[in-house]
Amino acid sequence: IIRLANVGKNYGDFRVLQNINLSIAKGEKIVICGPSGSGKSTLIRCINHLSPHDVGTIHVNNVELDGKNKNVGAIRCEVGMVFQNFNLFPHLTVLENCLLAPMKVRGKSRAQAEETAMRLLGRVHIAEQAHKMPSQLSGGQQQRVAIARALCMEPEVMLFDEPTSALDPEMVGEVLDVMVELARGGMTMLCVTHEMGFARKVADRIIFMDAGQVVEIATPDEFFDAPKTDRARNFLSQLM
Ligand code: ATP
Ligand code: MG
Repeated sequence: IIRLANVGKNYGDFRVLQNINLSIAKGEKIVICGPSGSGKSTLIRCINHLSPHDVGTIHVNNVELDGKNKNVGAIRCEVGMVFQNFNLFPHLTVLENCLLAPMKVRGKSRAQAEETAMRLLGRVHIAEQAHKMPSQLSGGQQQRVAIARALCMEPEVMLFDEPTSALDPEMVGEVLDVMVELARGGMTMLCVTHEMGFARKVADRIIFMDAGQVVEIATPDEFFDAPKTDRARNFLSQLM
């Protein structure tokens, strides 16, 4: 469902991504990890054109992400994204946050959009907060709203960029639980996270990045128990 061939990106002289080749099948769960600055965020932001790549090709659902507005729009409809800092619209209620894109972009009626939103807010166990403002919720609750909001577009793929790293420790579990449920429901997921318990539980493959390159792709068992490179061993030893 996602195909990256030879993808590269530069910031001036700095090569933030180099020669990334990656195919992700429908329903697959991928965890991306690696040291700070290795290009993890840039990579997943390339997939919905938040950070346009400048070398190679990216296809999502057989549409090429070539910078044409039509294609970028089509891909963004199918690719939900959840950020570290929730990025909810602060002046809108939880429910309105969830209605905006489905009504504006998908052209749903308010009634249709509301039905979907309430169902998905229920799925992340937060339906009773629908009429609150984001600032009235805890970080864990806000992140669950952000997940529901992304799901309201009925995307084919969900991208997560360190969704739990801005949370107080006691709220990490409630967000990971929702992500595990989503994974069990068959969603295709690409998650940048250092939550290795989550990675072991749900990932089909782990992608280890360093210095803008994919250094290892392995199953969780292979990666955690027998990493192939010194760079991965080093990284893992720092997490313990
Ligand atoms: P972290 O774990 O800290 O989130 P990351 O692996 O997500 O790191 P990226 O945010 O993708 O790393 O950044 C990769 C590199 O690109 C870093 O060295 C960063 O400083 C650089 N970089 C990112 N965005 C820009 C930008 N807009 N302009 C210039 N350099 C950038
Ligand atoms: Mg990052």
